[in-house]
Amino acid sequence: MLPQKMIAELCDSSWVGRPTGPATSKLFHTWVNKYKSNVSLQTQRFSYLKDGNKIFAKNFLLSSKKNAVSHLYIIAHYDHLGSGGIKSKEVNKTCIHPGADDNASGVALALMLFDSLQKNFAYLQPTIVYTSGHEDGMYGSKALAKLISNKLYPYTWIINLDMVGRLDTISKKIRVETNILWPDVMTDNIMPSVQQIHSVGEHSAFLQNNLWVTFITTGSHNDYHRCTDTPDKINIEGIENLRNYLIAVIAQKIQTVKQE
Ligand SMILES: [Zn+2]
Repeated sequence: MLPQKMIAELCDSSWVGRPTGPATSKLFHTWVNKYKSNVSLQTQRFSYLKDGNKIFAKNFLLSSKKNAVSHLYIIAHYDHLGSGGIKSKEVNKTCIHPGADDNASGVALALMLFDSLQKNFAYLQPTIVYTSGHEDGMYGSKALAKLISNKLYPYTWIINLDMVGRLDTISKKIRVETNILWPDVMTDNIMPSVQQIHSVGEHSAFLQNNLWVTFITTGSHNDYHRCTDTPDKINIEGIENLRNYLIAVIAQKIQTVKQE
């Protein structure tokens, strides 16, 4: 499962920058099915008002079993700015915002993690949730938060992946914002800077629900919300290293929980 291919597909001009709405949901549904036809795929529909118009959107939940209650939810928003709009940083210019880093990178990493987790940590019943309505106000994760609470002893863990494709090749730094004690995993490939959660994102809706919450990002850059956020600037090896790092972190964390 190659992140490069997945990111290129999501950024293809036929997706027109993945604006929130039925057209993007439909394309994404087909896309996910192509990679994950062997797992349960549920959809969660929701709507919200934008400039007086009702926007219909969908979250997609992928898990090994239908209606599985998971210990671990990996969240990544799949929609983006389309051809511009109020959140775009382009001035006087309408152009496709491919959103390679924001957040095709997170979509790809979530699928890569899911495969490893299913194989090695099946009892966690890992679930990926691809959320929508992000740029308009994170409506997808707000809808999702109504479904997820701490149902499973001893924890339910939400990991939000947003902009994970620009790992700096020198510093190897990632930002980890979390409300849990973060495991010390040693690697030469990833240098985590661990902080309390302060950013607003897809993870925010879960902070009230007594859950473990983590936000992972390689950080912002000059192409953020511009038409220049393109696939050629993605650090593919960095995404692979991040996958390996996160698997090690998850393994270590659940090990310490078992021992308590
Ligand atoms: Zn984003």
